[in-house]
Amino acid sequence: TQLVNQIAAGEVVERPASVVKELVENCFDAGATQIQIDIEQGGARLIRIRDNGCGIINEDLGLALSRHATSKISSLKDLEQVASMGFRGEALPSISSVARLTLISRTENAECAWKVGADGTEKDFDPQPDPHPQGTTIEVRDLFYNTPARRKFLKSEKTEFSHIENLIKKMALSHFDIGFVLTHNQREIVNLKPASSPAEQEKRIAKICGSAFIENAVRIDFASSGLHLTGWVGLPTFSRSQPDMQFFYVNARLIKDRLVSHAVKQAYQDVLYHGRHPVFVLYLALDPKLVDVNAHPAKLEVRFREGRLVHDFLFSALHRSLAEQRP
Ligand code: ADP
Ligand code: MG
Repeated sequence: TQLVNQIAAGEVVERPASVVKELVENCFDAGATQIQIDIEQGGARLIRIRDNGCGIINEDLGLALSRHATSKISSLKDLEQVASMGFRGEALPSISSVARLTLISRTENAECAWKVGADGTEKDFDPQPDPHPQGTTIEVRDLFYNTPARRKFLKSEKTEFSHIENLIKKMALSHFDIGFVLTHNQREIVNLKPASSPAEQEKRIAKICGSAFIENAVRIDFASSGLHLTGWVGLPTFSRSQPDMQFFYVNARLIKDRLVSHAVKQAYQDVLYHGRHPVFVLYLALDPKLVDVNAHPAKLEVRFREGRLVHDFLFSALHRSLAEQRP
């Protein structure tokens, strides 16, 4: 099981930012409205994530750290199949196989919080009481301490932290109702309050993408035949300085897709400027049945059932909005 966990960890845990991604997604699932992320030494020394979500009941703490599908994985072939499905239910056991993990959690009606630890091969599933408020804190210390070859592949503290910072910003761009605080070596780097009104949301965009972007952006809000596109497209004056700022979310999930890029670029270049790369933060909402986002959960790929329809919708939505609001 230890070996299976470590191989699984190779799928889930590439670097500190991948740990942060899994843990923060769990906070979303738990209905958190405030998430605190503390990082030390680029995440190699400490990754600590605290949320105010629903918490985990005492009896389930050990379960959360155990491989749900252990019995199903008996050969490497099985493992590959699970890997391609994305190891749902495997994040915590995988992380705890390559780091020292502590889990503290308290549910709404519990008298106190409970704490368990898992450290490489040692698992301490005997919960101890703890004064933690409602919600969950997961501490991951000394990532890859027991897999030195992988630890060696970690980049500089600064690089690993910048991956984490970019990840948090990307997640914050699609979870406006959640507050995020990110610290590195005890210094506050990001502090985003929950943003419910459009004005507050634009403030968050300004904090993440720069005020130059939001001040020179066309607001998009266009719906037709069950598809709804919202967000901002930056004007060319701004594009020059930030050629790679392109965020496209499908049902709150960041994706990269050639069909999407093509449609956005076509519309942008048609209406505004030829030969320039558009900068944008765009959100497409559509029936989840029309899109398969789980093809590769760790990657950014997505598969639309009706690619042509989505492409043409995006093109016309942007074409019209940009033409109407052309400066
Ligand atoms: P998955 O999220 O795919 O179920 P994980 O290994 O990421 O698998 O988490 C295992 C389980 O631990 C979750 O299903 C959830 O019940 C619980 N859990 C993990 N993190 C949290 C959290 N922050 N708040 C509440 N429950 C959590
Ligand atoms: Mg998870």
